[in-house]
Amino acid sequence: MLKTVANFDRIGEENAFAVLARANALAAQGRDIISLGIGQPDFRTPEFIVEAAIKALRDGHHGYTAANGILPLREAVAANLHSRYGVEVSPDSVMIMPGGKPTMFMTILMFGEPGAEIMYPDPGFPIYRSMIEYTGATPVPVPIREENGFAFSAEETLKLITPKTRLIIVNSPANPTGGVTPKSEVDKLVAGLEKWPDVAIMSDEIYDHMVYDGEKHVCLLSYPSIRDRLILLNGWSKTYAMTGWRLGYAVYPGKLYDYARKLAVNLHSCVNASAQFAGLAALTGPQDEVWKMIAEFDKRRGVVVAGLNKLPGVSCITPKGAFYAFPNIKATGWKAKELASTLLNETGVVTIGGPDFGILGEGYLRLSYANSTENILKALDRMGEFLATRKAA
Ligand code: PLP
Repeated sequence: MLKTVANFDRIGEENAFAVLARANALAAQGRDIISLGIGQPDFRTPEFIVEAAIKALRDGHHGYTAANGILPLREAVAANLHSRYGVEVSPDSVMIMPGGKPTMFMTILMFGEPGAEIMYPDPGFPIYRSMIEYTGATPVPVPIREENGFAFSAEETLKLITPKTRLIIVNSPANPTGGVTPKSEVDKLVAGLEKWPDVAIMSDEIYDHMVYDGEKHVCLLSYPSIRDRLILLNGWSKTYAMTGWRLGYAVYPGKLYDYARKLAVNLHSCVNASAQFAGLAALTGPQDEVWKMIAEFDKRRGVVVAGLNKLPGVSCITPKGAFYAFPNIKATGWKAKELASTLLNETGVVTIGGPDFGILGEGYLRLSYANSTENILKALDRMGEFLATRKAA
Protein backbone atom coordinates (compact mmCIF):
# COMPACT_ATOMS: atom_id res chain seq x y z
CA MET A 1 0.00 0.00 0.00
CA LEU A 2 1.32 3.43 -0.90
CA LYS A 3 1.50 5.77 2.08
CA THR A 4 0.08 9.06 0.87
CA VAL A 5 -0.89 12.04 3.01
CA ALA A 6 -4.38 12.18 4.49
CA ASN A 7 -5.11 15.59 2.96
CA PHE A 8 -5.80 13.88 -0.36
CA ASP A 9 -8.67 11.90 1.19
CA ARG A 10 -10.34 15.23 1.83
CA ILE A 11 -9.74 17.18 -1.36
CA GLY A 12 -12.90 17.64 -3.42
CA GLU A 13 -13.68 18.37 -7.06
CA GLU A 14 -15.77 20.49 -9.32
CA ASN A 15 -18.61 18.29 -10.49
CA ALA A 16 -19.26 20.52 -13.51
CA PHE A 17 -16.20 18.88 -15.11
CA ALA A 18 -17.55 15.35 -14.44
CA VAL A 19 -20.91 16.37 -15.91
CA LEU A 20 -19.11 17.85 -18.93
CA ALA A 21 -17.30 14.52 -19.50
CA ARG A 22 -20.59 12.60 -19.23
CA ALA A 23 -22.34 15.01 -21.61
CA ASN A 24 -19.46 14.71 -24.11
CA ALA A 25 -19.62 10.91 -23.88
CA LEU A 26 -23.38 10.99 -24.60
CA ALA A 27 -22.81 13.40 -27.52
CA ALA A 28 -20.16 11.03 -28.90
CA GLN A 29 -22.82 8.28 -28.92
CA GLY A 30 -24.92 10.51 -31.14
CA ARG A 31 -27.25 11.95 -28.48
CA ASP A 32 -28.55 15.48 -29.00
CA ILE A 33 -27.07 17.30 -26.00
CA ILE A 34 -27.73 20.92 -25.00
CA SER A 35 -25.21 22.15 -22.48
CA LEU A 36 -26.30 24.59 -19.82
CA GLY A 37 -23.68 23.00 -17.59
CA ILE A 38 -20.12 24.26 -17.65
CA GLY A 39 -19.46 27.92 -16.86
CA GLN A 40 -17.65 29.20 -19.89
CA PRO A 41 -18.62 31.75 -22.53
CA ASP A 42 -19.77 30.17 -25.79
CA PHE A 43 -18.01 32.97 -27.70
CA ARG A 44 -14.59 32.75 -29.32
CA THR A 45 -11.67 34.66 -27.87
CA PRO A 46 -11.60 37.95 -29.85
CA GLU A 47 -9.38 37.61 -32.91
CA PHE A 48 -6.94 40.41 -32.02
CA ILE A 49 -6.15 38.61 -28.76
CA VAL A 50 -5.43 35.36 -30.58
CA GLU A 51 -3.23 37.28 -33.05
CA ALA A 52 -1.27 38.85 -30.18
CA ALA A 53 -0.42 35.38 -28.85
CA ILE A 54 0.66 34.15 -32.28
CA LYS A 55 2.78 37.28 -32.79
CA ALA A 56 4.40 36.79 -29.37
CA LEU A 57 5.48 33.29 -30.34
CA ARG A 58 6.74 34.50 -33.75
CA ASP A 59 8.65 37.28 -31.99
CA GLY A 60 10.45 34.68 -29.90
CA HIS A 61 8.59 34.92 -26.62
CA HIS A 62 8.82 31.21 -26.02
CA GLY A 63 10.90 31.08 -22.88
CA TYR A 64 10.31 31.44 -19.16
CA THR A 65 9.13 34.79 -17.90
CA ALA A 66 9.47 36.14 -14.36
CA ALA A 67 7.44 33.99 -11.98
CA ASN A 68 5.13 36.90 -11.14
CA GLY A 69 4.50 37.72 -14.81
CA ILE A 70 5.85 40.18 -17.37
CA LEU A 71 6.01 43.77 -16.16
CA PRO A 72 3.94 45.29 -19.02
CA LEU A 73 1.10 42.93 -18.16
CA ARG A 74 1.28 43.69 -14.43
CA GLU A 75 1.28 47.39 -15.31
CA ALA A 76 -1.70 46.91 -17.60
CA VAL A 77 -3.64 45.12 -14.84
CA ALA A 78 -2.88 47.96 -12.42
CA ALA A 79 -3.94 50.57 -15.01
CA ASN A 80 -7.10 48.62 -15.82
CA LEU A 81 -8.11 48.42 -12.14
CA HIS A 82 -7.41 52.13 -11.81
CA SER A 83 -9.47 53.08 -14.83
CA ARG A 84 -12.44 50.90 -13.84
CA TYR A 85 -12.49 51.44 -10.07
CA GLY A 86 -10.29 54.47 -9.42
CA VAL A 87 -8.04 52.39 -7.16
CA GLU A 88 -4.27 52.70 -6.87
CA VAL A 89 -2.61 49.33 -7.34
CA SER A 90 1.13 48.87 -7.64
CA PRO A 91 2.19 46.55 -10.49
CA ASP A 92 4.45 45.01 -7.84
CA SER A 93 1.42 43.70 -5.96
CA VAL A 94 -0.06 42.13 -9.13
CA MET A 95 0.73 38.47 -9.65
CA ILE A 96 -0.03 36.84 -13.01
CA MET A 97 -1.54 33.40 -12.47
CA PRO A 98 -2.39 30.39 -14.64
CA GLY A 99 -6.15 31.09 -14.25
CA GLY A 100 -8.38 32.22 -11.43
CA LYS A 101 -8.30 28.94 -9.52
CA PRO A 102 -4.60 29.09 -8.55
CA THR A 103 -5.28 32.26 -6.56
CA MET A 104 -7.81 30.49 -4.37
CA PHE A 105 -5.55 27.44 -4.14
CA MET A 106 -2.55 29.50 -3.01
CA THR A 107 -4.51 31.79 -0.71
CA ILE A 108 -6.23 28.94 1.09
CA LEU A 109 -2.84 27.21 1.46
CA MET A 110 -1.51 30.38 3.11
CA PHE A 111 -4.21 30.46 5.80
CA GLY A 112 -5.51 26.92 6.20
CA GLU A 113 -4.26 24.45 8.78
CA PRO A 114 -5.88 22.34 11.49
CA GLY A 115 -7.43 24.58 14.14
CA ALA A 116 -8.00 27.50 11.74
CA GLU A 117 -11.43 28.44 10.43
CA ILE A 118 -12.06 29.68 6.90
CA MET A 119 -15.43 31.09 5.86
CA TYR A 120 -16.81 30.58 2.38
CA PRO A 121 -20.14 31.07 0.58
CA ASP A 122 -22.65 28.18 0.46
CA PRO A 123 -23.87 27.69 -2.21
CA GLY A 124 -20.57 28.76 -3.73
CA PHE A 125 -17.74 27.75 -6.04
CA PRO A 126 -16.90 24.19 -4.90
CA ILE A 127 -13.14 24.62 -4.94
CA TYR A 128 -13.24 26.94 -1.90
CA ARG A 129 -14.51 24.20 0.39
CA SER A 130 -12.43 21.52 -1.28
CA MET A 131 -9.19 23.42 -0.66
CA ILE A 132 -10.16 24.39 2.90
CA GLU A 133 -10.75 20.71 3.66
CA TYR A 134 -7.47 19.81 1.98
CA THR A 135 -5.51 22.04 4.37
CA GLY A 136 -7.23 20.56 7.44
CA ALA A 137 -8.81 23.90 8.38
CA THR A 138 -12.45 23.96 9.43
CA PRO A 139 -14.76 25.11 6.63
CA VAL A 140 -17.38 27.55 7.92
CA PRO A 141 -20.18 28.04 5.37
CA VAL A 142 -21.77 31.47 5.06
CA PRO A 143 -25.37 30.92 3.91
CA ILE A 144 -26.29 32.60 0.64
CA ARG A 145 -30.05 32.95 0.58
CA GLU A 146 -32.59 33.27 -2.20
CA GLU A 147 -34.62 35.74 -0.08
CA ASN A 148 -31.57 38.06 -0.15
CA GLY A 149 -31.40 37.84 -3.95
CA PHE A 150 -28.43 35.52 -3.39
CA ALA A 151 -26.35 38.39 -2.04
CA PHE A 152 -24.29 37.67 1.05
CA SER A 153 -25.49 39.15 4.33
CA ALA A 154 -22.89 41.24 6.17
CA GLU A 155 -24.62 40.61 9.48
CA GLU A 156 -24.71 36.85 9.03
CA THR A 157 -21.08 36.83 7.88
CA LEU A 158 -19.83 38.93 10.79
CA LYS A 159 -21.70 36.75 13.31
CA LEU A 160 -19.80 33.68 12.14
CA ILE A 161 -16.34 35.16 12.79
CA THR A 162 -14.52 33.68 15.79
CA PRO A 163 -10.99 34.16 17.15
CA LYS A 164 -10.05 31.14 15.01
CA THR A 165 -11.17 32.75 11.75
CA ARG A 166 -8.23 33.43 9.45
CA LEU A 167 -9.82 34.06 6.08
CA ILE A 168 -13.22 35.02 4.67
CA ILE A 169 -13.94 34.27 1.03
CA VAL A 170 -16.51 36.45 -0.74
CA ASN A 171 -17.71 36.20 -4.33
CA SER A 172 -19.84 38.76 -6.12
CA PRO A 173 -21.12 38.47 -8.84
CA ALA A 174 -21.48 34.89 -7.73
CA ASN A 175 -21.24 31.42 -9.09
CA PRO A 176 -23.58 29.44 -8.98
CA THR A 177 -26.39 31.87 -8.18
CA GLY A 178 -25.68 34.96 -10.29
CA GLY A 179 -26.20 36.94 -7.07
CA VAL A 180 -24.69 40.42 -6.73
CA THR A 181 -24.13 41.87 -3.28
CA PRO A 182 -25.17 45.54 -3.05
CA LYS A 183 -22.67 48.21 -2.01
CA SER A 184 -24.58 48.90 1.24
CA GLU A 185 -23.98 45.32 2.35
CA VAL A 186 -20.29 45.40 1.37
CA ASP A 187 -19.93 48.69 3.30
CA LYS A 188 -21.42 46.98 6.36
CA LEU A 189 -19.13 43.99 6.08
CA VAL A 190 -16.02 46.14 5.74
CA ALA A 191 -17.08 48.32 8.71
CA GLY A 192 -17.65 45.22 10.83
CA LEU A 193 -14.28 43.80 9.86
CA GLU A 194 -12.54 46.69 11.61
CA LYS A 195 -13.12 44.75 14.83
CA TRP A 196 -11.27 41.79 13.36
CA PRO A 197 -7.95 43.16 12.06
CA ASP A 198 -6.32 39.71 11.89
CA VAL A 199 -8.86 38.26 9.48
CA ALA A 200 -7.91 38.25 5.78
CA ILE A 201 -10.44 38.56 2.96
CA MET A 202 -10.23 36.95 -0.45
CA SER A 203 -12.59 38.60 -2.93
CA ASP A 204 -13.29 36.51 -6.01
CA GLU A 205 -14.30 39.07 -8.63
CA ILE A 206 -13.85 36.94 -11.75
CA TYR A 207 -17.32 38.02 -13.00
CA ASP A 208 -16.79 41.73 -12.29
CA HIS A 209 -17.72 42.85 -15.82
CA MET A 210 -20.98 40.91 -15.79
CA VAL A 211 -23.32 43.05 -13.73
CA TYR A 212 -26.68 43.95 -15.26
CA ASP A 213 -29.51 46.48 -14.91
CA GLY A 214 -27.14 49.44 -14.90
CA GLU A 215 -25.63 48.42 -11.55
CA LYS A 216 -21.92 48.99 -10.92
CA HIS A 217 -19.62 46.31 -9.60
CA VAL A 218 -18.21 47.02 -6.15
CA CYS A 219 -14.50 46.18 -6.11
CA LEU A 220 -13.20 45.47 -2.61
CA LEU A 221 -9.91 47.20 -3.47
CA SER A 222 -11.83 50.46 -3.05
CA TYR A 223 -11.96 50.02 0.75
CA PRO A 224 -8.68 51.39 2.20
CA SER A 225 -9.32 49.94 5.68
CA ILE A 226 -8.89 46.36 4.43
CA ARG A 227 -6.29 46.85 1.69
CA ASP A 228 -3.48 45.41 3.81
CA ARG A 229 -5.36 42.10 4.21
CA LEU A 230 -7.30 41.86 0.97
CA ILE A 231 -6.49 39.37 -1.75
CA LEU A 232 -8.19 40.06 -5.08
CA LEU A 233 -8.87 37.19 -7.48
CA ASN A 234 -9.62 38.01 -11.09
CA GLY A 235 -8.64 36.97 -14.59
CA TRP A 236 -9.35 36.76 -18.29
CA SER A 237 -11.33 33.49 -18.45
CA LYS A 238 -14.86 34.83 -18.37
CA THR A 239 -14.51 38.46 -19.51
CA TYR A 240 -12.51 37.69 -22.66
CA ALA A 241 -13.78 34.15 -23.32
CA MET A 242 -10.36 32.74 -22.48
CA THR A 243 -11.09 29.80 -20.16
CA GLY A 244 -8.72 27.44 -21.95
CA TRP A 245 -5.81 29.87 -22.05
CA ARG A 246 -5.33 29.59 -18.28
CA LEU A 247 -4.66 33.20 -17.46
CA GLY A 248 -5.63 35.07 -14.31
CA TYR A 249 -4.27 37.54 -11.84
CA ALA A 250 -4.21 38.26 -8.15
CA VAL A 251 -3.45 41.32 -6.09
CA TYR A 252 -1.64 40.26 -2.92
CA PRO A 253 -0.78 42.58 -0.03
CA GLY A 254 2.52 42.67 1.86
CA LYS A 255 4.32 39.43 2.55
CA LEU A 256 1.56 37.38 0.93
CA TYR A 257 2.87 38.52 -2.45
CA ASP A 258 6.20 36.90 -1.82
CA TYR A 259 4.50 33.72 -0.60
CA ALA A 260 2.52 33.59 -3.85
CA ARG A 261 5.65 34.26 -5.92
CA LYS A 262 7.50 31.45 -4.15
CA LEU A 263 4.57 29.07 -4.61
CA ALA A 264 4.60 29.95 -8.32
CA VAL A 265 8.34 29.25 -8.56
CA ASN A 266 7.79 25.90 -6.85
CA LEU A 267 4.70 24.99 -8.84
CA HIS A 268 4.56 26.36 -12.39
CA SER A 269 7.63 28.66 -12.75
CA CYS A 270 5.64 31.19 -14.77
CA VAL A 271 2.52 31.51 -16.87
CA ASN A 272 2.73 30.58 -20.56
CA ALA A 273 4.52 33.56 -22.17
CA SER A 274 2.32 33.89 -25.26
CA ALA A 275 -0.83 33.80 -23.09
CA GLN A 276 0.57 36.74 -21.13
CA PHE A 277 1.01 38.74 -24.35
CA ALA A 278 -2.54 37.80 -25.31
CA GLY A 279 -3.72 39.06 -21.91
CA LEU A 280 -1.87 42.33 -22.49
CA ALA A 281 -3.62 42.80 -25.85
CA ALA A 282 -6.96 42.00 -24.21
CA LEU A 283 -6.56 44.71 -21.57
CA THR A 284 -5.12 47.39 -23.82
CA GLY A 285 -7.14 46.71 -27.00
CA PRO A 286 -10.74 47.57 -27.89
CA GLN A 287 -13.33 46.32 -25.40
CA ASP A 288 -16.33 46.33 -27.72
CA GLU A 289 -16.43 42.54 -28.14
CA VAL A 290 -16.57 42.17 -24.35
CA TRP A 291 -19.55 44.49 -24.09
CA LYS A 292 -21.25 42.80 -27.06
CA MET A 293 -20.90 39.43 -25.35
CA ILE A 294 -22.25 40.82 -22.09
CA ALA A 295 -25.22 42.44 -23.86
CA GLU A 296 -25.98 39.04 -25.37
CA PHE A 297 -25.78 37.37 -21.94
CA ASP A 298 -28.16 40.00 -20.63
CA LYS A 299 -30.69 39.19 -23.38
CA ARG A 300 -30.44 35.48 -22.67
CA ARG A 301 -30.86 36.14 -18.97
CA GLY A 302 -34.34 37.47 -19.71
CA VAL A 303 -35.15 34.46 -21.90
CA VAL A 304 -33.95 31.88 -19.38
CA VAL A 305 -35.66 33.46 -16.36
CA ALA A 306 -39.00 33.93 -18.16
CA GLY A 307 -38.84 30.36 -19.48
CA LEU A 308 -37.92 28.83 -16.12
CA ASN A 309 -40.79 30.59 -14.37
CA LYS A 310 -43.23 28.92 -16.76
CA LEU A 311 -42.05 25.40 -15.88
CA PRO A 312 -44.21 23.40 -13.47
CA GLY A 313 -42.86 23.57 -9.91
CA VAL A 314 -40.02 25.93 -10.85
CA SER A 315 -39.46 29.54 -9.81
CA CYS A 316 -36.45 31.67 -10.60
CA ILE A 317 -35.45 35.09 -9.35
CA THR A 318 -33.66 37.33 -11.84
CA PRO A 319 -29.90 37.00 -11.31
CA LYS A 320 -28.13 40.34 -11.29
CA GLY A 321 -24.75 39.14 -12.53
CA ALA A 322 -22.50 36.46 -14.09
CA PHE A 323 -24.16 34.07 -16.59
CA TYR A 324 -26.00 31.69 -14.30
CA ALA A 325 -29.60 31.20 -13.28
CA PHE A 326 -30.32 29.31 -10.06
CA PRO A 327 -33.96 28.24 -10.19
CA ASN A 328 -35.77 26.91 -7.13
CA ILE A 329 -37.12 23.45 -7.98
CA LYS A 330 -38.41 22.45 -4.53
CA ALA A 331 -42.06 22.34 -5.66
CA THR A 332 -41.24 19.77 -8.35
CA GLY A 333 -40.64 17.19 -5.61
CA TRP A 334 -37.31 16.20 -7.18
CA LYS A 335 -33.99 16.16 -5.36
CA ALA A 336 -31.74 18.50 -7.30
CA LYS A 337 -28.93 16.13 -8.29
CA GLU A 338 -31.38 13.42 -9.25
CA LEU A 339 -33.28 15.87 -11.41
CA ALA A 340 -30.07 17.09 -13.08
CA SER A 341 -28.89 13.58 -13.94
CA THR A 342 -32.34 12.39 -15.07
CA LEU A 343 -32.72 15.48 -17.24
CA LEU A 344 -29.38 14.74 -18.86
CA ASN A 345 -30.11 11.06 -19.43
CA GLU A 346 -33.66 11.48 -20.67
CA THR A 347 -33.73 14.87 -22.38
CA GLY A 348 -30.08 15.61 -23.15
CA VAL A 349 -30.21 18.91 -21.23
CA VAL A 350 -27.12 19.51 -19.10
CA THR A 351 -27.64 21.35 -15.80
CA ILE A 352 -25.82 21.09 -12.48
CA GLY A 353 -27.54 20.08 -9.23
CA GLY A 354 -27.35 22.79 -6.55
CA PRO A 355 -25.77 20.46 -3.94
CA ASP A 356 -22.62 20.41 -6.09
CA PHE A 357 -22.12 23.94 -4.74
CA GLY A 358 -22.83 23.21 -1.08
CA ILE A 359 -25.43 21.84 1.31
CA LEU A 360 -27.66 24.88 0.89
CA GLY A 361 -27.79 24.24 -2.85
CA GLU A 362 -30.39 21.48 -2.34
CA GLY A 363 -33.65 22.45 -4.01
CA TYR A 364 -31.93 24.37 -6.83
CA LEU A 365 -30.39 23.74 -10.24
CA ARG A 366 -27.67 25.82 -11.85
CA LEU A 367 -28.13 26.71 -15.50
CA SER A 368 -25.34 28.44 -17.36
CA TYR A 369 -26.88 30.57 -20.10
CA ALA A 370 -23.63 30.63 -22.05
CA ASN A 371 -25.42 28.98 -24.97
CA SER A 372 -27.44 30.34 -27.89
CA THR A 373 -30.99 31.63 -27.32
CA GLU A 374 -32.20 28.97 -29.74
CA ASN A 375 -30.61 26.21 -27.64
CA ILE A 376 -31.81 27.75 -24.38
CA LEU A 377 -35.40 27.76 -25.70
CA LYS A 378 -35.07 24.17 -26.90
CA ALA A 379 -33.69 23.13 -23.49
CA LEU A 380 -36.53 24.89 -21.67
CA ASP A 381 -39.09 23.11 -23.90
CA ARG A 382 -37.54 19.75 -23.11
CA MET A 383 -37.44 20.52 -19.39
CA GLY A 384 -41.08 21.65 -19.45
CA GLU A 385 -42.23 18.48 -21.19
CA PHE A 386 -40.23 16.35 -18.79
CA LEU A 387 -41.54 18.05 -15.65
CA ALA A 388 -45.13 17.93 -16.88
CA THR A 389 -45.01 14.20 -17.43
CA ARG A 390 -42.44 12.76 -15.01
CA LYS A 391 -43.00 12.87 -11.29
CA ALA A 392 -40.15 12.53 -8.82
CA ALA A 393 -39.33 8.95 -7.87
N1 PLP B 1 -14.05 31.84 -9.43
C1 PLP B 1 -15.30 31.58 -9.77
C2 PLP B 1 -16.40 32.12 -8.93
C3 PLP B 1 -15.58 30.80 -10.90
O1 PLP B 1 -16.85 30.55 -11.23
C4 PLP B 1 -14.51 30.28 -11.66
C5 PLP B 1 -14.74 29.42 -12.83
O2 PLP B 1 -15.79 28.90 -13.07
C6 PLP B 1 -13.21 30.58 -11.25
C7 PLP B 1 -13.02 31.36 -10.14
C8 PLP B 1 -12.02 29.98 -11.95
O3 PLP B 1 -11.66 30.61 -13.08
P1 PLP B 1 -10.48 30.03 -13.99
O4 PLP B 1 -11.11 29.17 -15.04
O5 PLP B 1 -9.83 31.26 -14.56
O6 PLP B 1 -9.54 29.26 -13.14
